[in-house]
Amino acid sequence: SIPLGFFGGIGAASRNGILVKGSNYLEALNDVKVVVFDKTGTLTKGVFKVTAIRPEGGRTEDELMELAAMAEAQSNHPIAESIRAAWAKDIRTQGVEDYDEVAGHGIRVSVDGREVLAGNAKMMDQAGILYTKPETVGTVIHVAEAGVYAGHLIISDEVKEDAAAAIQALKKLGIRKTVMLTGDAKAVGEAVGRELGVDEVYAELLPQHKVERLEQLEAAKSPKEKMVFVGDGINDTPVLARADVGVAMGGLGSDAAIEAADVVIMTDEPSRLASAIRIAKRTRRIVW
Ligand code: ADP
Ligand code: MG
Repeated sequence: SIPLGFFGGIGAASRNGILVKGSNYLEALNDVKVVVFDKTGTLTKGVFKVTAIRPEGGRTEDELMELAAMAEAQSNHPIAESIRAAWAKDIRTQGVEDYDEVAGHGIRVSVDGREVLAGNAKMMDQAGILYTKPETVGTVIHVAEAGVYAGHLIISDEVKEDAAAAIQALKKLGIRKTVMLTGDAKAVGEAVGRELGVDEVYAELLPQHKVERLEQLEAAKSPKEKMVFVGDGINDTPVLARADVGVAMGGLGSDAAIEAADVVIMTDEPSRLASAIRIAKRTRRIVW
């Protein structure tokens, strides 16, 4: 049977905007020593703004933006939303077909029979397209049309207001190691990690690499120590499922992520994880 005190703990968590799906997860939160965060949408707002438009090959800024907007018309990735917002005009759908979203890479689509790519350096490398490497730090969306480079956009995300405090609070609670995983570029990942005081950063990871990294982190700790993964659910549902305690952002997260998670943070604030751990510790004192 479940000790009554657990219901009190789950209730206290829910009043703090934290949905805990079972007393076993509340119990496991007591023994968390390693916390792994996804970057985009979890530690950062996931609200990108286009901060530079750099066309190449004789195109205008508008022409480059329109190509990117056509490619990103159907994606629900935060990057796609920022590009549509920056375009701010109707997106032509006629002649746009064969939409293909490649996780951790970007979008491939056909426009008037020409292949358009919008994605990261990995995507350009795989297609054999020579691209310009920008010096600005920011997430870069390269665009190519019919096998030829068309230029790039720089988009920037901001860290969440409580992200640095969230990392500090975890350290105070005895968390031994904080880690950030991201599919984003190394320079972006490392800049964010440094700003927030995260112990380890692993960047340029595809969704399946995030699972592998989690397994390596799992193998490197004692089985008594529990590991939490916190994500927004875009591309990271398998990682959520693999952690001892999978925590999803409830507001930004997809239904699949909320389903796969053991704990849901309804307010999207990473600092609520520390609140959940505090509630778990208090509950253990009452129960035992
Ligand atoms: P994170 O791990 O930070 O949450 P994702 O795994 O969602 O990031 O995405 C990793 C990278 O893949 C992005 O930084 C971007 O370079 C590329 N990417 C993903 N989706 C798109 C998209 N819709 N358009 C362009 N690039 C994308
Ligand atoms: Mg993500």
